Amino acid sequence: QDDPRLVRIKESIRTIPDFPKAGILFRDVTTLLLDHKAFKDTIDIFVERYKHMKIDAVVGIEARGFIFGPPIALGIGAKFVPHRKPKKLPGPVVAEEYTLEYGTDRIEMHEGAVQSGERCLVVDDLIATGGTLAAGIRLIERVGAEVVECACLIELSELKGREKLMGKPLFVLVDFE
Ligand code: AMP
Repeated sequence: QDDPRLVRIKESIRTIPDFPKAGILFRDVTTLLLDHKAFKDTIDIFVERYKHMKIDAVVGIEARGFIFGPPIALGIGAKFVPHRKPKKLPGPVVAEEYTLEYGTDRIEMHEGAVQSGERCLVVDDLIATGGTLAAGIRLIERVGAEVVECACLIELSELKGREKLMGKPLFVLVDFE
């Protein structure tokens, strides 16, 4: 991609070494949010891409998918649906487990939030191993809906997470190897 807006977007993302533990380079998007132009350009790029793709639901993954998903949903005229960590949603939920480096985690979605046959876009800030997005895809497919694409600001391409997305397309703005 050679969109000139991507230079400032990439530069606005701060890297913090050894967070949350030794050896991890944490890519911090809160500094992008401090730069109004970079934040606006980020949302504009996603809205330009998805506004004519007949998306019914933007599904945001807790927590940073809740920052970028809602403005994209408003911009393209879709509803917003949160995928939350366990025991946060008050109503009846559908859930999906996924494996982490040590142990398992789980995401939940309110029953009925996404309906059978609806076209969904799944949004998170970053794809690393792809486990989180893959669980999001399974949860949407479990209720009979379709994942049109996954969208992230950042891909850690060395980890090859996009190969875990069951063939779903992945669109990203910047790559940190
Ligand atoms: P994964 O399931 O391995 O693709 O991990 C993706 C999730 O973990 C996303 O919700 C990210 O916000 C978070 N994450 C993983 N690695 C990093 C990193 N290096 N910097 C910031 N967030 C990360």
